Amino acid sequence: MEKQKPLTVASRLIGKKSLTGDVVEFLFQAEPAFSFQPGQFISIVIPGAGPGGRDLRRAYSIASSPELDLDGKPVFELCVKLVEGGPGTTYLNSLNIGQSMTGMAPFGDFVFKPNPDRHALFISTGTGLAPFRSMALSRVFSENRPRSTRILFGARNEGDLLYTEELLAVLGPGSLVQALSRSQADWCGFKGRVTDWLRENAAAIDWANTEFYLCGNGAMIDEAKTILTSKGVEKTSIHQEVYYKPKPGESHAN
Ligand SMILES: Cc1cc2nc3c(=O)[nH]c(=O)nc-3n(C[C@H](O)[C@H](O)[C@H](O)COP(=O)(O)OP(=O)(O)OC[C@H]3O[C@@H](n4cnc5c(N)ncnc54)[C@H](O)[C@@H]3O)c2cc1C
Repeated sequence: MEKQKPLTVASRLIGKKSLTGDVVEFLFQAEPAFSFQPGQFISIVIPGAGPGGRDLRRAYSIASSPELDLDGKPVFELCVKLVEGGPGTTYLNSLNIGQSMTGMAPFGDFVFKPNPDRHALFISTGTGLAPFRSMALSRVFSENRPRSTRILFGARNEGDLLYTEELLAVLGPGSLVQALSRSQADWCGFKGRVTDWLRENAAAIDWANTEFYLCGNGAMIDEAKTILTSKGVEKTSIHQEVYYKPKPGESHAN
């Protein structure tokens, strides 16, 4: 697929909703409209938040499909975890409906690579699910579905779950594994981290014939890659987007 040159876009906030206690979904209308591939991100300008009053930039994966529109006008969604005191998320969350922000888009090589001969396993923690939602809802995915698709989503507890019904509706039963590290006792899904699930379910994974997409916490991605490499997965079958490196001593389960 041809790569689009990034454009400067002034995006007007037209919708905002809380998905969990600390994750918010933003709906923007872009001017001018821009094309992107599912998995790509927008780089947002945070005015005056840098040293010496300079602008800062923050990256956000586009969480909606490239085809999403509202009354014929292209729109896009972001799925953002609010970080206490973080300049980027504080700025985004301070925008009121009707206000605009400036960004550049699209960026990134972490895109869905259609291949109906291969399985796809999408592994994420937290809002690392955003690019996988974009992929799962996209036309390129529905027209070129992998041999099988599974999303493995890691979070702390039931209150952190994102997009459950929507993903199950698109991908089908059994395609979404939700791994909770601090679930209630009656949680029927997987208890543990996504990397625990990979180890415990190793026999059920066709390691040689799967494309692995990893997104979110850098510690999870490092640990998952160690597991994949030990199973003989080729580097060319591992695709990754690191959102952030956790602070020293912080695990990827919290
Ligand atoms: C390519 C790319 C795409 C990204 N897409 C998204 C996205 O779709 N949604 C999203 O929420 N974030 C995303 N991020 C992270 C985002 O760019 C910011 O780093 C994040 O929003 C924090 O920015 P801040 O200025 O509020 O806080 P900062 O002061 O920059 O960050 C403070 C600390 O918050 C932690 N942190 C950062 N991001 C997260 C997160 N997502 N979950 C938990 N802890 C975090 C880190 O420990 C970081 O050091 C993406 C990052 C990259 C590189």
